[in-house]
Amino acid sequence: PLTARTPLIAGNWKMNLDHLQAIALVQKLSWSLKDARHDYGDTEVAVFPPFTDLRSVQTLLTADKLSLVLGAQDLSPHESGAYTGDISGAMLEKLGVHYALVGHSERRHGHGESDEVVGAKTLAAHRAGLVPMICVGETAADLAEHGAAAVPLAQLAAAVAQLPRDAEIVVAYEPVWAIGSGQAATPEQAEEVARAIREALRDLRGDDSAAATRILYGGSVTSQNIAAFLKQPNVDGALVGGASLKADEFSRIVQFRK
Ligand code: PGA
Repeated sequence: PLTARTPLIAGNWKMNLDHLQAIALVQKLSWSLKDARHDYGDTEVAVFPPFTDLRSVQTLLTADKLSLVLGAQDLSPHESGAYTGDISGAMLEKLGVHYALVGHSERRHGHGESDEVVGAKTLAAHRAGLVPMICVGETAADLAEHGAAAVPLAQLAAAVAQLPRDAEIVVAYEPVWAIGSGQAATPEQAEEVARAIREALRDLRGDDSAAATRILYGGSVTSQNIAAFLKQPNVDGALVGGASLKADEFSRIVQFRK
């Protein structure tokens, strides 16, 4: 069975940076990463800019042959048609986008996205040739009431319900109480839920798929705590919000082994 899981560091810019600022950040990032090539060699690095920045970032990555991977923060559950304001998976794929975030807690809570909608978006991403990065996580109230793993596992099961078993996915475990709070989970807490997620993936999608799926931790990741998370056997990378907006800090995170 395939168990080699390339570490993945993903920067979720959220609603920050216009396309000119995006170009400036990617240029700075590529400079620091080029210098550091030997320190992060086998790590995959992805950025998730706002939709309006994707074309500019794509052009820059192609022109400069940069090895950053492009992700989108959301996509429509629909293929095309009368869905004002939506962006389809096919449009993103055409822009060289590889990953699409689905089910981020800011979409679930700020935009009322249900498990059903997240499932439809997961399937739409796969059908468009994108890899869905499925975000799951419990609120502080969920944690107190059900423990850490119950809600993330239920969200995961719903998200992959319609997906073919061999479709690649990435799972990002992001406790809602840890996002943007400066209060990261402990590496042990992250590992406990990541291990439960991998066990659930075995039942949901089979042993091989579970062994090959990358599970990321997200929530107040910084250059100070990244190494401890990546040491955990079931944590294969990180989804980084605030700390991905500064080239120096994000580049230190990418070089987590240093
Ligand atoms: P944060 O955000 O790193 O700023 O906590 C993480 C996320 O929401 O993906």
